[in-house]
Amino acid sequence: MKILVINAGSSSLKYQLLDMDNESVIAKGNCDRIGIGGHIKHTTFDGKVVDTDCDFPTHTEAFEKLVEVLTTGDAAVVKSMDEISAVGHRVVHGGEQFGKTILADDAVIDAIDALSELAPVHNHPNALALRACKKVLAPGTPQVAVFDTAFHATMPEKAFMYGLPYECYEKYHVRKYGFHGTSHRFVSKALADAMGKDIKDLKIVSCHLGNGSSITAVEGGKSIDTTMGFTPLDGVIMGTRCGSVDASAVTFIQNKMGLSPNETSDYMNKKSGFLGVSGVSSDARDLGAAAADGNKRAKLALEMLRYEIKKYIGSYAAIMNGLDAVLFTGGIGENSDDLREDVCSNMEYLGIKLDKEANKGLHGKLAKISAPDSKVEVWVVPTNEELLIARDTKALVEGKEV
Ligand code: ADP
Repeated sequence: MKILVINAGSSSLKYQLLDMDNESVIAKGNCDRIGIGGHIKHTTFDGKVVDTDCDFPTHTEAFEKLVEVLTTGDAAVVKSMDEISAVGHRVVHGGEQFGKTILADDAVIDAIDALSELAPVHNHPNALALRACKKVLAPGTPQVAVFDTAFHATMPEKAFMYGLPYECYEKYHVRKYGFHGTSHRFVSKALADAMGKDIKDLKIVSCHLGNGSSITAVEGGKSIDTTMGFTPLDGVIMGTRCGSVDASAVTFIQNKMGLSPNETSDYMNKKSGFLGVSGVSSDARDLGAAAADGNKRAKLALEMLRYEIKKYIGSYAAIMNGLDAVLFTGGIGENSDDLREDVCSNMEYLGIKLDKEANKGLHGKLAKISAPDSKVEVWVVPTNEELLIARDTKALVEGKEV
């Protein structure tokens, strides 16, 4: 069975076509500059490439081009779209309505669009992509929505509520939702499999660290708390996002700098984090290089992330009354030996002891990096959100529970 996975942004449409008989990638690519021009880069499993400028006024033209490169020309991988059994979409926000992967009919697409109020940058493009695919695909081709928030739907009320007046929750749905759920779900299950254990018996802290970062407490296979909140701004320091700050500091900055609400949001989402603290870059590799050259603020930004991760591992061990494993994933989590070593140092009290040699040079390889006598196992687990979306999509179209 062939499944197409779509990850749509406001001006881009990333895709992967997977053969689910062996879970291999047949082709992948990205249509970007939608609305401001257009460009497609398409690569097949056997190295054929299409890399060309196009005209993409909307997501529909981008999807039409994607169909064209998949089905015609040198880099075609299917004879017709009829070979593709279903399309799985990454959708960022499922609100309180969607706690599970679901078949996306018109009513669901409208509901996803209506949730744009909670996630304006993400949900509207997700709805646009769902509608664009529907226009172009053969009638009746199932489309499936896999939500970034869904894995966190199991958080208890005491974890997802803020100490604001209750009406904020009732009227405006202000609460913690959590994000990166597809990744946390994929890696925590992959970890349990690698450990040879049933996930129902495990207490895991899952650290997804990339441009956006979040940490999740996974108890018995369920998310019980996570660091991102109402939006993906909350939690640990990120590439350009500040992470948690005292809300009164925000109103103070707004007054001092004369910023509008949107400008304040930009300040915290796009100008803060690694970039804002270091003044160097939002990229962890650039910060590492600057810190090695003696840049104190770059070093500070990197230390802040390490410190915050340690704090969350400790607090999540407390709420789960124990800890069986910590996992690292995402661009930083999978690639930064230094970060993993720093986070896991001086954690003997919690039962964490790293094997420094095993921790070196993994670059996205699944590996156990704790010492044999460490009470808590520590692992690097490469994430693969597209594969999980494809697996969920296949299961749903086969009429199975996900
Ligand atoms: P996104 O959240 O956009 O998916 P990624 O998961 O790809 O991002 O992570 C990007 C981050 O990973 C960047 O900060 C980048 O510097 C970092 N990264 C990638 N490779 C390395 C490496 N070898 N060492 C340290 N950080 C790395």
